Amino acid sequence: MIIPRGADVVLVRYGDISTKSPSVRRMMEDRLVSNIRAGLDRAGIDANIDLQWSRPFIAVDEGQIARATEVASETFGVVSASPSLCISRDRDEIVSTVAEVASETYERGTFAVRARRADKRLPYTSGDLEREAGSAVFEAVQGQFDPEVDLDDPDITFHIEVRREHAYVFTDIVAGVGGLPVGTQAPMVALISGGIDSPVAAYRIMRRGSPIIPVYVDLGTYGGADHQARALEAIARLHSYAGDQREPAYIVPAGDIIERFVAEVDAGRMLLLRRFMFMIAEHIARDVGAVGIVTGEALGQKSSQTATNFEVTGMATELPIHRPLLTMDKVEITDIARDIGTFRSSTVPTGCPTIAPDRVMTKASVADIDQLEPDDFDQLTEMVVERAEVLEPTNLSPYAKLSPG
Ligand code: ATP
Ligand code: MG
Repeated sequence: MIIPRGADVVLVRYGDISTKSPSVRRMMEDRLVSNIRAGLDRAGIDANIDLQWSRPFIAVDEGQIARATEVASETFGVVSASPSLCISRDRDEIVSTVAEVASETYERGTFAVRARRADKRLPYTSGDLEREAGSAVFEAVQGQFDPEVDLDDPDITFHIEVRREHAYVFTDIVAGVGGLPVGTQAPMVALISGGIDSPVAAYRIMRRGSPIIPVYVDLGTYGGADHQARALEAIARLHSYAGDQREPAYIVPAGDIIERFVAEVDAGRMLLLRRFMFMIAEHIARDVGAVGIVTGEALGQKSSQTATNFEVTGMATELPIHRPLLTMDKVEITDIARDIGTFRSSTVPTGCPTIAPDRVMTKASVADIDQLEPDDFDQLTEMVVERAEVLEPTNLSPYAKLSPG
């Protein structure tokens, strides 16, 4: 990230929010600002956020601008962020500022100047600014090397943006995570295993606006402390994207029940287990007012994830089951996991392989499932949910230390 000396404002740009009607847009902008503020607070950054004409501006101390830009770019709804100098709209000041920035940051290769005016009543056009600032860049660096203009693919771009009250000069446009602000949709329960897939699935749902209530089912001897620690680590990382919409996590101890399933059921065991997890998720969802269940399942990834088995596992709940990874390959999912910083937390194998029977059912029917399911299935669900441990977000922060990013 190239940061002009003296930069103390982050320009934040959003994407899908701009397609909304004025009232929805206002609500989403407010959510965006609250979420950015929560992220900055957690990063220990003292900032002022000002929302002007569809763009949040974050004013910070110069020393914190890099971190503030990162926080903004990791907030859902943000498509890009630029650490900027904030100056007056005076033409000469704009031109000389660009020249100064060039003398500090432009050392070789090609350049371009791009100017935009939000206010069309200004006494100069963006073309004027581009020409004048371009010449000033030439003059500023000419003694050291031969500058060259390349408007198509420059090595460095000096951006000028003239708004209603101030002008901004910056060189970097840091890509944001996109999506919509968390909290602009109703919450959902996310089944998080500590494997690679489920944190990515939860991330994708949060990215479209739903806060998630993470649920980890402790499989006892089939899961293990390591597995659980990885799940908590992933949840802590997901929380860093949640703005002020972090929800408590549920750890549901189910080792004894899993042992019963393993002893009593052979083929079909995984389907039973998945249905059990959906019922647990639904139970918690009803308690907290969540409207759907999120999993990391992908079509054909495992025997329990065939198209046919999705039908019978999905029947365990009346809530919609959301599978944002449905059509993705493992490699694609893994790439995203690395990108969003949940990968390291996912490298311990899940407990499921050890629960899997020798013979699996890839085409279970509803009749098969009815036969497999113990009569007290509902009571078992209620019992394990009742003994769930509820971890507040602040109690998860120790795990965040383990995560990258
Ligand atoms: P991976 O596929 O990377 O091993 P996974 O988490 O996807 O990890 P699967 O066995 O594919 O594991 O499980 C399918 C889905 O079921 C998961 O994505 C997750 O949503 C849910 N799930 C599995 N095990 C657990 C668990 N112990 N607690 C909560 N949810 C779980
Ligand atoms: Mg999986």
